[in-house]
Amino acid sequence: MSGPTIVITGGAGFLGSHLCERLLAQGARVICMDNFLTGSPRNVEHLMTNPAFRVVECDLTGFIHVPGEVDMVLHFASAASPADYLRHPIETLKVGSLGTLHALGMAKEKGARFILASTSEVYGDPLEHPQAETYWGNVNPVGPRSVYDEAKRFAESLTTAYRNSHGVDTGIVRIFNTYGPRMRPHDGRAIPTFIRQALRGEPITVTGDGSQTRSICYVDDTVAGVLTLAFDDFAGPVNIGNPQEVSMLALAEIIRDLAGSSSPIRLVERPVDDPKVRCPDTTLAAERLGWRPRVDMIDGLRRTIAWFAEELERESRELTT
Ligand code: NAD
Repeated sequence: MSGPTIVITGGAGFLGSHLCERLLAQGARVICMDNFLTGSPRNVEHLMTNPAFRVVECDLTGFIHVPGEVDMVLHFASAASPADYLRHPIETLKVGSLGTLHALGMAKEKGARFILASTSEVYGDPLEHPQAETYWGNVNPVGPRSVYDEAKRFAESLTTAYRNSHGVDTGIVRIFNTYGPRMRPHDGRAIPTFIRQALRGEPITVTGDGSQTRSICYVDDTVAGVLTLAFDDFAGPVNIGNPQEVSMLALAEIIRDLAGSSSPIRLVERPVDDPKVRCPDTTLAAERLGWRPRVDMIDGLRRTIAWFAEELERESRELTT
């Protein structure tokens, strides 16, 4: 086998598992490092028969060692849904700080390119709209979401310091809300929640008055953007996301219709520090990387709903056996 050897931290999570799959299909050798805090071996079990794939169960915040050559480290380990990082605040800060330090150390030791999965959350509740990479953000450092936002801001700073002081070849990608198969139906994010409620005929719970907006990107597009940066030499940071903006209320209605459901929509309390708007300026990704999202929102939601329908079936079967 002659493809590159790529370490994916958080490889058993939602985005990580899609990256593992795509890179194996392109002929890479993939080492997935994960402690299964929010991911699951099930996400990668279909890859286990591939001799180019290996799973190493480990916690990135402790000592890590990978024998042999490594050409690239894609650092994706971190809880990402608000429900997950609010349940695991210290773990989230630790993986963003110590975990990033260890992943960068591995890239330095191996002479590998390092890609940090950063997030649109570094922009906080933004005062500029849409958000370009030049915007420094509006984050409450002691708010409940800060465990994630500040961990990622620290991780960006650490990555930049390793580039400047140690000459590590780094890239920072600021990922905006991504959806698709293998999100956990109960992970608390809006799309899995809306789909699960619609498919079960339960009320669809929209926070606030539903006028807050998000831009949502289908997972295949996000993965393509991440890999374009990974195989480039650009440092970034670069936004990857779909600039098509949708209000939460409109999204709930679209999902209800696509799922063929008659669930009522129920407005519930809005979480603290929840951003009012979120939309990427993707000019840099288009001009520097030639990347733009391709999957239409309705098409992406259809594919995601179909996957969730099967997943919920499986869950119900497991509960009754
Ligand atoms: P996820 O929770 O599905 O995956 C994260 C993975 O990291 C899980 O498999 C988890 O078990 C693993 N992990 C967590 N702590 C670890 C540790 N200490 N050691 C080893 N493994 C650990 O989340 P996701 O949605 O796939 O997000 C992946 C990455 O992308 C995260 O870094 C997240 O911040 C970033 N991101 C995701 C989105 C999105 O919309 N999904 C948006 C912006 C940024």
